[in-house]
Amino acid sequence: MPDRSIPPPGDMPPEELRRVGRELIDWIADYFDGQERLPVAPRCSPGELIDAMPQQGPVRGEPAERILDDFDRLIVPHVVHWSHPGFLAYFAAGGSAPGALAESLIAALNNVGLLWKASPALVELEEVALGWLADWLALPRDWFGIIHSTASDASFHAVIAARQAAVEADRDAGLETSLDRLTIYASEQAHMSIEKTMLALGRGREACRKIEVNDAFQMKPTALDAAIRADLEAGLRPIAVVATVGTTSTSSVDPIPALAEIAARHGLWLHVDAAYAGPAAMLEEKRDLFAGCELADSFLLNPHKWLFCPMDVTAFYTAKPDVFRRALGMTPEYLRSQEDPRAKSLAEYSIPLGRRFRGLKLWFVLRYFGRDGLKARLREHIRLAQGLAQRIKQRPDFELMAPTPFSLVCFRYRPAGADDKTCDGLNEGLLQAINRSGEFYLSHTKLRGRYTIRVAIGNLRTAQRHIDRLWELVLELTEIKETAND
Ligand SMILES: *Cc1c(COP(=O)(O)O)cnc(C)c1O
Repeated sequence: MPDRSIPPPGDMPPEELRRVGRELIDWIADYFDGQERLPVAPRCSPGELIDAMPQQGPVRGEPAERILDDFDRLIVPHVVHWSHPGFLAYFAAGGSAPGALAESLIAALNNVGLLWKASPALVELEEVALGWLADWLALPRDWFGIIHSTASDASFHAVIAARQAAVEADRDAGLETSLDRLTIYASEQAHMSIEKTMLALGRGREACRKIEVNDAFQMKPTALDAAIRADLEAGLRPIAVVATVGTTSTSSVDPIPALAEIAARHGLWLHVDAAYAGPAAMLEEKRDLFAGCELADSFLLNPHKWLFCPMDVTAFYTAKPDVFRRALGMTPEYLRSQEDPRAKSLAEYSIPLGRRFRGLKLWFVLRYFGRDGLKARLREHIRLAQGLAQRIKQRPDFELMAPTPFSLVCFRYRPAGADDKTCDGLNEGLLQAINRSGEFYLSHTKLRGRYTIRVAIGNLRTAQRHIDRLWELVLELTEIKETAND
């Protein structure tokens, strides 16, 4: 006998979707609107949510309302509110309301971009949105764009292409490339994902040479050249230089033109990681910091950081798409399709086969804010950061730990007479106290071995009054009164 209490198979009925969907949109609108009243980060201990959850999944389906109730009751109190105006940790990745709307459409369509025929709109919109963005960033017109899920993924693809290019160059010269001798080069301040590429390729982290930086945390070209020469002499096979515009700890900018010249001289792939700072290339007054990027073989930025797209959109551009295709292109019979040059198959340029319709959220966000709207928001974040840096600079008991070329401020509290070790403890305590307040959420780094507090501005909801309040809180917590002439 069939069990009558089990509903017939099929998706959620449309009436239920309409009812719950409206409730959900209200929830999202209230969330963005009232987020400021919530503590930025939860005060919970590891495992707390797991312990609050049933140990077994439901045997019978449950009404969506009940799931939403539990979402409010159990999940939200364990969430860090990344789009909260007080979220200033890591690099802001707060997304946006238009991004959230686009994300629901992406889930509803649920297109899987295996090849052009599987979703023409997915493939073509990715090209269109990346083309607009490249244009706004003043990147070379003929670059090929593709969306990856993260900068880490994209950089891994860049190093695979660099390896392919090296193997081909050696083959053309009648040499054999020994894959266990490959090396790449990035600064000490480069993101860990660059080292990880070599880990993933089986070469170990040390095969990514960490090049020394100057006082402003920028890669030293002479040190790069020396490291490449030393490796060549030792019979190793350098394949790529990875430069960063906007490093993770301090947002420093490597001297790209000099690095490009060295890479070209040694025949190495140049990859530029501008995951956080990339959007600033839209601003005429910041273009200088991107000089030389046009010489790169590959370039990336994360619209899911400072361009208000929800995770996950990494915009990856390359001057040499054919190298990726030769490295990763495969067409099994079940994916064979018409040979139209406009019917691009993005899987031939990347490791995953299936791809999400991420171009849709990029397109939605670019259209909703527009080029000038985005520029105005970036400029405001930079202005807020410069203002904070200025205040820090004026206080003898505080120290700016790095220049502020974009919207990241690195500083520490350094009361008169305190040695470095005492300062480390004081600043660690200060950061914990700020985060415990629930008003702000900051993160830290170590610069020249010293504990450093980072304030990363990049959320759409962060305004002057928040930065004013943050500074007031810092002074309260260090028990300093602002004097009248500040
Ligand atoms: C954030 C960041 C990354 C890593 O980004 P994911 O998309 O999380 O992989 C890489 N490089 C730099 C410079 C970054 O700031």
